[in-house]
Amino acid sequence: MNLENNIDIQLSTDEAPRQWYNFTLDFPEALPEALDHETDICKSQIQIAKKIKPPVLLEQDHLKERWYDIPDSVRDNLYRIGRPTPLRRALKLEKYLDTPAKIYFKREDTLLTGSFKLNTAIAQAYYAKEAGYKGVVSETGAGQWGMALALASKFYGLKSEIFMAKCSMEQKPYKAMYGHILDCEFMPSPGENTKVGRALLKKIKDHPGDIGTAISEAIDFAVEHEEYAYLSGSNTIHVLFHQTLLGLETRLQLQKIDQKPDILVACVSGGSNFGGLILPFLQEKVENRDSIKFLGAESTAAPRLTKGKYEYDYSDYAGYTPMTKSYTMGHSFIPEPIHVGGLRQHNGNPVIGMLRKNGLVDAVAYDEFQAFRASKTFLETEGVFAAPESAHAIAAAIEEAVKCKEEGISKNIVFLCSGNGFLDMAGYHEILCKQ
Ligand SMILES: *Cc1c(COP(=O)(O)O)cnc(C)c1O
Repeated sequence: MNLENNIDIQLSTDEAPRQWYNFTLDFPEALPEALDHETDICKSQIQIAKKIKPPVLLEQDHLKERWYDIPDSVRDNLYRIGRPTPLRRALKLEKYLDTPAKIYFKREDTLLTGSFKLNTAIAQAYYAKEAGYKGVVSETGAGQWGMALALASKFYGLKSEIFMAKCSMEQKPYKAMYGHILDCEFMPSPGENTKVGRALLKKIKDHPGDIGTAISEAIDFAVEHEEYAYLSGSNTIHVLFHQTLLGLETRLQLQKIDQKPDILVACVSGGSNFGGLILPFLQEKVENRDSIKFLGAESTAAPRLTKGKYEYDYSDYAGYTPMTKSYTMGHSFIPEPIHVGGLRQHNGNPVIGMLRKNGLVDAVAYDEFQAFRASKTFLETEGVFAAPESAHAIAAAIEEAVKCKEEGISKNIVFLCSGNGFLDMAGYHEILCKQ
């Protein structure tokens, strides 16, 4: 394949993966068990999960086989939203950096709602419908997961409700408007709609909200409304499992040009875009640590992997989720109200945490300005306007490419462009143009 003339490495729908990959068989050690505990709404968090989650999704947290067929209806909708996505060579960025490295990026920014979140939203809405629920409820940080769920729930004739971190809702009102157009209520969190929201507002009147608080409110809502399933956009094994399409497609695309990745880069919050990219490559990493580098880029506003502790914690503010072992800042940590709403989370995915503990995941943190500057370089060279979260992956990819130049070696750097930034324009403008 001549990349000079054809910068996109495409897969046809016939070539696209038809199965999800069970990466848990490749783990270097068993994942520490989730711990149950009592809270004010229930004696057992694991029991709550059984009430509010579609049973197939709970089964997918305990995978056994190596491969699982993707249901026909889910595959059909994945093609509809733009899968498989292209893998593009960033030739102009390489030239600008004057690096011997080859830089590729996976274009999740091209999907219909502007981010990779649709990959699991479609699967989860499908299973909620199959289980007989009438609606779905969830949290969202920057709004991308909320938008994806609003669309996916329409595909399956479900109602939807979203709790959105309050500061992000004020910064990015268009995401909530998109939801409203699809009859999906976006409610600012913390807010007056749930017991936990009301109690928190009493305690901290001007709480900016974050993902952990919105999760508590969404679970509270699902417990109160039996016809609603609670779905999660990140942090769980089933979400990573659906997102393995990212790595599986990337592998097939690189095979088409006889290449292998040396470094896989993605931004990390709940770990679903990073995990989806790296986990299909975990087996070779475990067998040969030098074969490939897994690099997670996080925000200095929530530096879990670089500065957090590896210990048991809840994923939400109120403790309505079972405790899992991951890198955490503590569940009462409130991240600064930066524009990068998708990375404002106190803890992370237990899978990514365990891999980091085992020395299989490298991590780096950037502040908003560093990330947005890198994203501007990417926009100027490649013309792609990336989401604020993706900007962190771009910063890390550029840093690795510069290292290649200093060391005079060529490496294949693949980063995930997790979304586009068109609805985050105000944040970019504030940080880059008002200094
Ligand atoms: C949600 C989101 C993220 C962060 O979530 P992860 O679960 O860590 O992947 C990153 N980028 C975009 C565009 C998002 O919408």
